[in-house]
Amino acid sequence: MRPFEENFAKMLARQSMKYEELEKLVLDWGKNKGILDSSTPLRQLEKTQEELDETKAAVIKFMQSVDQTLLNGEDEETAIKNALEEVIDGIGDMYVTIILFTALASQLTKTYLNKEIDSVECLQAAYDEIKGRTGKMVNGLFVKDQ
Ligand SMILES: [Mg+2]
Repeated sequence: MRPFEENFAKMLARQSMKYEELEKLVLDWGKNKGILDSSTPLRQLEKTQEELDETKAAVIKFMQSVDQTLLNGEDEETAIKNALEEVIDGIGDMYVTIILFTALASQLTKTYLNKEIDSVECLQAAYDEIKGRTGKMVNGLFVKDQ
């Protein structure tokens, strides 16, 4: 295994906390930083967009590093490793902003619908909706049957 593959394998093998435990820690962090008291759902979604753009850039950089290595035989291992770390960082940052966005949105649903929401519940609702869906792949995306 090359060093970046070893690091990635180590990361995958790392003893992880459960999603709900991490979600709670992120929410505590957001509370401590004042985000949950003074941000808004829309502002937090803008942060998600920023993190999504960063992640897209990191994925493009990763693919380019892989291409460089495959096409030119150049040793782009460091570039690949750095780009991969940026992708991982971006995925994590997107999750953090979505968890914080959901908590801020929950403040609104609590006020107006007397119901709190959390990210697991939203994910469950999405999965329940897509699980029986049929469709086909078009240009790299799944397109559902009408
Ligand atoms: Mg980031």
